[in-house]
Amino acid sequence: MLQVILAGHTLDRELVRALRAGELPADVEPTPETISAAYARISRSPDPVPELRAQARRDVAASRKSNRTIVFRMGHHSVAEHVTLNFDVLGVSRLALEALEDARLCSYTEKSQRYVTFGGEHVVPEEFDGGDRERFERVVGEQIGFYRKAFERLHEWQRRRHPEQLGTKLGQETVEGWAKEDARYALGLATETQLGFSGNARNVEHVIRKLRHHPLAEVRGLSRALFDAASEVAPSLIILSDPERFREAFGREVSDAFVRRGRETIERLGRAAMAGAPAAGPEDRPRDGDVTLVDATPEPDVAVVAALLHGASGRSWGDCRERARALGEAGRSALVREALAELSEFDAVPREFEHAWFTMEVVLSAACYGQLKRHRMMTFTPQAYDPGLGITVPEAVAEVGLEGELRALADRSASVWAELARRHPRAADYVLLNAHRRRVLVTLDLREVYHVARLRMDRHAQWDIRRVAGSIVALARRAAPAAAALACGKDEYAARRAGG
Ligand SMILES: Cc1cc2nc3c(=O)[nH]c(=O)nc-3n(C[C@H](O)[C@H](O)[C@H](O)COP(=O)(O)OP(=O)(O)OC[C@H]3O[C@@H](n4cnc5c(N)ncnc54)[C@H](O)[C@@H]3O)c2cc1C
Repeated sequence: MLQVILAGHTLDRELVRALRAGELPADVEPTPETISAAYARISRSPDPVPELRAQARRDVAASRKSNRTIVFRMGHHSVAEHVTLNFDVLGVSRLALEALEDARLCSYTEKSQRYVTFGGEHVVPEEFDGGDRERFERVVGEQIGFYRKAFERLHEWQRRRHPEQLGTKLGQETVEGWAKEDARYALGLATETQLGFSGNARNVEHVIRKLRHHPLAEVRGLSRALFDAASEVAPSLIILSDPERFREAFGREVSDAFVRRGRETIERLGRAAMAGAPAAGPEDRPRDGDVTLVDATPEPDVAVVAALLHGASGRSWGDCRERARALGEAGRSALVREALAELSEFDAVPREFEHAWFTMEVVLSAACYGQLKRHRMMTFTPQAYDPGLGITVPEAVAEVGLEGELRALADRSASVWAELARRHPRAADYVLLNAHRRRVLVTLDLREVYHVARLRMDRHAQWDIRRVAGSIVALARRAAPAAAALACGKDEYAARRAGG
């Protein structure tokens, strides 16, 4: 069952000290709101910051009032960013998590289906009752049954293939992990998980507000639970997401028509505009595996090198671009290599690399989507899941002779999905598998390409995301051979930098 617990929050150090010493006066509330109230006053007060914090601590009611005025009435929302809130979220489905993790300025750490064996815990969506609930439970039961069978078969197979690993506990866990990693393609999106979720008060408010009108009942419940937990300690910073609280505080209605209906309107317009649109025909766009490059900065190498020259030379952009062009490919490559000569696998490439961007269309499994969406520095817009795109079958599942059964399970899940979708167009997705696929449009700059490559092409990365990251990098390298030359997994980096 869904549960949200406020796990922690920012607190003024003086309040922490007083609490520890048992010296906190009974009438002083240890709330994080005093930090944002004090910092909000910095812009207009001549008093030193520690004194502003002391004033805010002494009068919490005044701090709350000033938060309401400064953050919401004056629109200085960024002061709410000084308060961080942490939440334990339990009993949430993988599908609902997609909605939560859409908020890219927050932080998440979730239970991994790669490392933890699943015992069949799943969310039963409120949307389904009667026959629909029975259909849902039946197919989820089949998914869990197949997961167990696949896990056992894969585990046995991996043990036979890797006897050298079995001598240590770590080795045994690694082998077990490989089996879980592939068996999970049979798990559905209703599977329950848990996570730690942290964000600053501004972003938490944004999440609560956005999820409040989500089409899935579970996600709306998550929004309410986050609101209740955040309101426990920061009521003056969580106002916009509650129309009643907003009305009470400001005597007018909050305008939330777009959060309520904006997405629906866009979907309706998109469907209407595309109805009857002819297929574009075979397109001649660079492609690697399931990734297609649909757009990019013209001359991305020139853009990056020109930006490096621009920051250094004091000359105009036009002059720098002409020089970057005149250097030719070899000259640009040499310049990039020299500029990055001392870059280690822990350093971000310079910001100038953000001047080259790429838009790619990726077809990927739900399992892979769950990983790629965690890269927050890219623009990421998914289509709905589409069983028509087929499924991703792990090679190991085929090796142990279970491909046919996985495909049959995916087909049965897809027909239950189609039946449920007639009445519950969004909740039907709960019955789809981690193996089902969707299309995603991704725009990322070259700096993020480097970061994704470093983590996701590395040998520790899971094979599905490794393949997609490899394709993203291959396309970026084709478009920007000089600037993207060192984008690779962190295990390969030293050799590549040395010129391998
Ligand atoms: C092998 C492997 C195993 C993993 N296992 C798990 C797991 O079990 N559970 C799980 O939940 N996740 C797991 N992850 C996902 C991982 O924790 C990251 O969420 C994911 O890789 C995104 O990378 P990132 O946060 O470095 O960068 P991105 O989100 O791509 O951002 C790029 C860079 O921007 C900066 N940045 C972005 N946002 C922030 C921020 N809010 N604060 C500070 N800096 C920021 C950082 O410098 C970051 O490196 C795993 C990843 C790998 C590679």
